[in-house]
Amino acid sequence: MTTIAFIGLGNMGGPMAKNLLAAGHALQIYDLSEAALADVEGVGGVIASSAQAACEGAEVVITMLPAGKHVRQVYTGEDGLLTILAPSTLCLDASTIDSETAREVGLAAGQAGIAFMDTPVSGGVAAAQAGTLAFMCGGTEEAFQRARPVLEGMGNAEKIFHAGPAGAGQVAKAANNMVLAIHMIGTCEALTMGANAGLDPAVLSEIMKASSGNNWSLQVYNPWPDVMAAAPASNGYNPGFMVDLMVKDLGLAAEVAQSTGVDNQLGRLALALYEAHQAEGHGAMDFSSILNRVRKP
Ligand code: NAD
Repeated sequence: MTTIAFIGLGNMGGPMAKNLLAAGHALQIYDLSEAALADVEGVGGVIASSAQAACEGAEVVITMLPAGKHVRQVYTGEDGLLTILAPSTLCLDASTIDSETAREVGLAAGQAGIAFMDTPVSGGVAAAQAGTLAFMCGGTEEAFQRARPVLEGMGNAEKIFHAGPAGAGQVAKAANNMVLAIHMIGTCEALTMGANAGLDPAVLSEIMKASSGNNWSLQVYNPWPDVMAAAPASNGYNPGFMVDLMVKDLGLAAEVAQSTGVDNQLGRLALALYEAHQAEGHGAMDFSSILNRVRKP
């Protein structure tokens, strides 16, 4: 059993914290939302009055926050965690943020003798609930070995990767989600082409799954309504993974591409399409709802 401070109990952090409790860890929890705190308290989390208070006596700190500015504030802001944590503490930031902030916070932690890893996740709310998330980790090998047993309480042991040094987890996440956006839009275009030419999208999906167009969107997240009962497309495009978050992730991918000298034309086109979809009021819908834009541009 490990004493863990868990900060950020939203759509992802809430179920991740519950799985850690179910795995036998002791959790000291903090969030700005009282409802989020009450939900995890109901299954054994101990509410703290602040992020700093949650870290008292904790061996591991996990943060699951919206964006880089929140992570920066919690760790390196005034009264930030790095000013109060014991050097033996391991910090795991599972938020999806820019790799620059992850590197800077990792560096500041290292200077204070504290181990920090960026550990963004893939799999969405369903995998967070099921405890089958994938983790892509950036930091030292030593920190990775310490992190693994804790991450296994929230994820699939075979999908926990050491991507490289601090910031590498965020680069891996940005690369993955850029490809996800591109193949989702491509899948929507292919299915719409087929449907407009008179094919059944369910039959076309089976054909492509057995052919070289096979991809994750077709396998588990078909964007066409009623092809796959459990997919957001068959449930009014309730997320799932929101358009707003995909826009954020494509923006992060564009930053990585620019800073590494890559002309990511398809990634930027996907960003422009998702931004247009968002601007039309669909930010809170699942990202597979981009099908509606493809069908009626
Ligand atoms: P969310 O908005 O549901 O949860 C964020 C939580 O952080 C909220 O409960 C909020 O009150 C809390 N918070 C914000 N600032 C805080 C602070 N200073 N101190 C304490 N708590 C604070 O977001 P989410 O969907 O859980 O996503 C969290 C992160 O995971 C994001 O970076 C997101 O991009 C990433 N992510 C989300 C998904 C998904 O499908 N939702 C999938 C993969 C990765």
